[in-house]
Amino acid sequence: MNKFTCSTCSEIHPLVTLLEFPQPAIISAISSGQSEADLNVLSKNIYRIDWKKLIIKVELNLRILDYEDDLDILIWSEVDLKHLKEKLPEFTSKKGGDIVLDAKLIQEIPFYRNTINSPITLTISHDGFDLYVKSVTTNEQLMADIEKGIELKDLTKILEQLYHYDETNFDENPD
Ligand SMILES: [Zn+2]
Repeated sequence: MNKFTCSTCSEIHPLVTLLEFPQPAIISAISSGQSEADLNVLSKNIYRIDWKKLIIKVELNLRILDYEDDLDILIWSEVDLKHLKEKLPEFTSKKGGDIVLDAKLIQEIPFYRNTINSPITLTISHDGFDLYVKSVTTNEQLMADIEKGIELKDLTKILEQLYHYDETNFDENPD
């Protein structure tokens, strides 16, 4: 695995190109019985909670212009079920065409900041019985980077902040 020298601590850290965010705390709280909400697993990337919202894992793909790999960010988002229901007739009438949904990110990407609750747009498509997310529109800076690509130095900046992130900022449900 490739490595880089960290400008924060001067140590060597692994250079990773896949950032997979953990399952949102609300899902583990329900699965472990700490929360009584009704959880329905629609697929490994889509959960329904209490007939109120869908929790959907989305993939953000950023080209790294001066490196052999892309940066893939797997992060969780939330869609209001009422909003989805309003969109469903559109989906049915298109006979499997795409639908565009308003959603929000529910996790923070270090470096981009304020991605929690930032509005995103999901284009949902149909593959047999499976719904999947085809594309995502997200906050301005992140979207610009998705469109234009980033450089290796941007990736190391993201990673440095991730390796040295204050963990209390990551706690979605502080008690
Ligand atoms: Zn470091």
